[in-house]
Amino acid sequence: MMTVNTPHIPVSATHEVKSTCCYCGVGCGVLIESDGSRIVGVRGDPDHPANLGKLCSKGSILHLTARPELQSLRALYPELRTDRSAGNKHSYHSRVRATWDQALEHAADRFADIIRMHGPDAVAFYVSGQLLTEDYFVFNKLAKGLIGTNNIDTNSRLCMSSAVAAYKQSLGADAPPCAYEDIDLADVVLIAGANPAVAHPILYRRLEAARAARPDMKVIVVDPRRTDSAREADLHLAIQPGTDVALFNGMLHLLLWEELTDADFINRHTEGFSAIKTLVRDATPRTIAEICGIAESDLVIAAQWFGRSNATLSLYCQGLNQSTSGTAKNTALINLHLATGQIGRPGAGPFSLTGQPNAMGGREVGGLANQLCAHRDLADPAHRAEVARLWGIEEVSARPGKTAVELFESLDQGSIKAVWIANTNPAQSMPDQNAVHRALRNAEFVVLQDAYLNTETAQFADVLLPATSWGEKEGTVTNSERRITRIRAAVNGPGETRADWEIAAEFARRLESRLRPGKPSLFPYQTAESVWNDHRAMTRGRDLDIGGLSYALLESKGPQQWPMPAGASRGLTRLYADGQFPTANGRARFIAKAYRPPAEKTDARYPIALTTGRLRDQWHSMSRTGSVPRAFGQVAEPEITMQSRDIARRGLTSGDLVEVQSRRGSIVLPLRASDEIASGQAYLPMHWGARFLGGMHSRGINTLTNPANDPDSGQPELKHTAVRIQAAQLPWRLVAFAFSGPGDPTKPESSPIPALALIDQLAVWMRGVPFASAVPIGRDREGVLIRLAAEQPPAQEWLGSMDTLLGLGYDGVARYDDLRLGVARRVDIRDGRLHGVRLSGPAKTLQGEAWLLECLLSERPVEAIRNHLLAPNAQPPEDLKPRSPIVCSCFDVDERRIRAALLTQPVDVPDQIALGSLESTLKCGTNCGSCRPRLKQLIAERLSPGTI
Ligand code: SF4
Repeated sequence: MMTVNTPHIPVSATHEVKSTCCYCGVGCGVLIESDGSRIVGVRGDPDHPANLGKLCSKGSILHLTARPELQSLRALYPELRTDRSAGNKHSYHSRVRATWDQALEHAADRFADIIRMHGPDAVAFYVSGQLLTEDYFVFNKLAKGLIGTNNIDTNSRLCMSSAVAAYKQSLGADAPPCAYEDIDLADVVLIAGANPAVAHPILYRRLEAARAARPDMKVIVVDPRRTDSAREADLHLAIQPGTDVALFNGMLHLLLWEELTDADFINRHTEGFSAIKTLVRDATPRTIAEICGIAESDLVIAAQWFGRSNATLSLYCQGLNQSTSGTAKNTALINLHLATGQIGRPGAGPFSLTGQPNAMGGREVGGLANQLCAHRDLADPAHRAEVARLWGIEEVSARPGKTAVELFESLDQGSIKAVWIANTNPAQSMPDQNAVHRALRNAEFVVLQDAYLNTETAQFADVLLPATSWGEKEGTVTNSERRITRIRAAVNGPGETRADWEIAAEFARRLESRLRPGKPSLFPYQTAESVWNDHRAMTRGRDLDIGGLSYALLESKGPQQWPMPAGASRGLTRLYADGQFPTANGRARFIAKAYRPPAEKTDARYPIALTTGRLRDQWHSMSRTGSVPRAFGQVAEPEITMQSRDIARRGLTSGDLVEVQSRRGSIVLPLRASDEIASGQAYLPMHWGARFLGGMHSRGINTLTNPANDPDSGQPELKHTAVRIQAAQLPWRLVAFAFSGPGDPTKPESSPIPALALIDQLAVWMRGVPFASAVPIGRDREGVLIRLAAEQPPAQEWLGSMDTLLGLGYDGVARYDDLRLGVARRVDIRDGRLHGVRLSGPAKTLQGEAWLLECLLSERPVEAIRNHLLAPNAQPPEDLKPRSPIVCSCFDVDERRIRAALLTQPVDVPDQIALGSLESTLKCGTNCGSCRPRLKQLIAERLSPGTI
């Protein structure tokens, strides 16, 4: 029985509660508006130092992810699988509702049995950077303190473990030395392997403002892609994928050659300089320019800007981290800062941007397989002894835990038999999904603790435990600049949901009664604060000491950076100002690592380098953003992008359906030309899992990616996969779009269902053909758009069942069938407006899709053109233009309207005035500002406006 309770929020008049955005590591403060039972709005917290009231396009629609109708997607009560036969392992339906008592007793029995029979390392935990620090702390103590296994890892392994390893190697501790205010103060900002315009938009707004205030500031972007951030940089180094170490070593060579290093800083505060000097001796500009595929002159400019500036700040993220050389890329960049003394000063330093909202908190409590609490090392016997003493246990196991990729490999091989997954979706996000799915299928016992019951991972759960989510939780998170924010629950969690730390602690107590009966509990926690106080105690005397912090102080003084030891009046803004580093001799270390190419080379069979990244309006595996149709306005459907010349060289055309194959599997999806991509490369957003990008062989985009990982950090090389791309020979096509429910208007009305729920119901159709995609559409009214492709038309009954699900199966639907050509068109008109459409047949017969979709979304009257809508060769009404990608999601402004507005301006009007005019006429860019890079791009393109 539960002995603790999630705080109960009384239903009251509308009020606001302070929390943070649950997406990226910027950690923006939010004010959640609620009436006590429902979240009804969100706005940026003007008092939060990370964002000063601003929110990006994702943060500003957070409240829409908490709409009451989405409760059908939530895990609301515990479930137990009743039939574990192989056929039932993938069915939600073979689980039945259980009480918390039954579910936790069963889980404790299974874990205890496996531990007794096979030892503690036969179980594992795979947790998440979405967890709060308190949640993380309890899970870590459960694994390392109670069970005695270090098999606890996190999806942060996929995100920033190379940055962790590098900070420790170079600076002695996993501590980002900078603060966001350094963006305001830098003279040169080097952005490497990051696209903050899209992935950390609020920081990018800060950079825009700094550049506007100080036009002499220089921005260098290192990225193989011409991203939004790269387009706006003063210098874009479009290096060949994976050559960052060569680039940074080449820059160091130039810094030495041009005598731009800081000899005094090097002598007084570092070690290992002679080894790095020797290493970079041969990294001549010509050699490096050739390896990196950039102009020698650009390399020289980058080094000169870096070395001559008074304050150089580096911002970096997954482009450095997600690599088999991830740690070396990070340390090579840090070498540049040490060589020039660009660290510990305002506006200077190597600043790793975290991807997830609380990856930092996880690092603080040691929530990775190779870490212990408060930045202690598992490999250090003294640290293990210290943690054992603080926890009141005999010892901490010295056996290294399995990192994420190893963990799922061990599950597949059977040495790990049970896994507890919390708040993450490895059946979408891990590389080599075929192997991960096999591992989860073969596992003896899988527990999933999550807010959602419909993720790709949920199908494998033997026990499903419902967790509270954003707006429902109490605790703390730490953002990229080491700033801890207290977050408050705005509403109670729905159903029987419980806080993550509370579930973990209750399970731990039940396991204790089996593994160490009669001993005092290691988990006496009654509140989130009591957990956090334990964490605080572990930090005393450490580099991240927060002995001077408390929940009360976080509430009264607001978010604080660590360290903040007892007696300090505020957290420390910037680390290493005194040149003292947390190493044995107080000196930072130059790490001499030579360039190594990515693990998987492109060759004649797999000639294209595939890289991955983020979309502006989506988050990770889309379990949250996927529920908001508006988040699909900018990029509506899955697609792979390549340079147009590469497309033509393969005899392909933009828009073709292609098969993308790697050494691990293949997926089918549309191809689109993009000038962002260099020749020989292709790009896929990381978000598209099998729910949205289906097909009989697809497990989403990570079907393709490579699990090879960095030897120091264990981080897999998600940024580089060798693939081949060829036309998919799938002549039969279907496109259907419809508002989601009610299905048959002649029957008693049912309420509309969320688009994402309908997409989940379409899963059977999405696995029945070689290609399928399904996405939410609409803004105020939701619907879905589904595409299928196959070699042959499927059976009529199969199509008929799908029609029924889409509400196109009743007698009132208008039909056109050409049996000879195999063409079928279905048009459903309700109350004089289009409600649903299905077009199917040979690819070239699917005319009219774009304008029919616009008819549906705009909800314009169509009764008068009913028969016209059905005709295979019908033309759109004259006043109707097909919709183009949404640029400004706040005000629903699409690209076509922006281009049209720009055409009304004189061509020689300055860019800034053109932008101001767009803002005043269309309002685009005036709210969250996330669309401003795209607006500026369209303004730059206005002399060749393209199709309107
Ligand atoms: Fe959330 Fe956007 Fe802020 Fe990141 S930048 S924390 S996604 S509002």
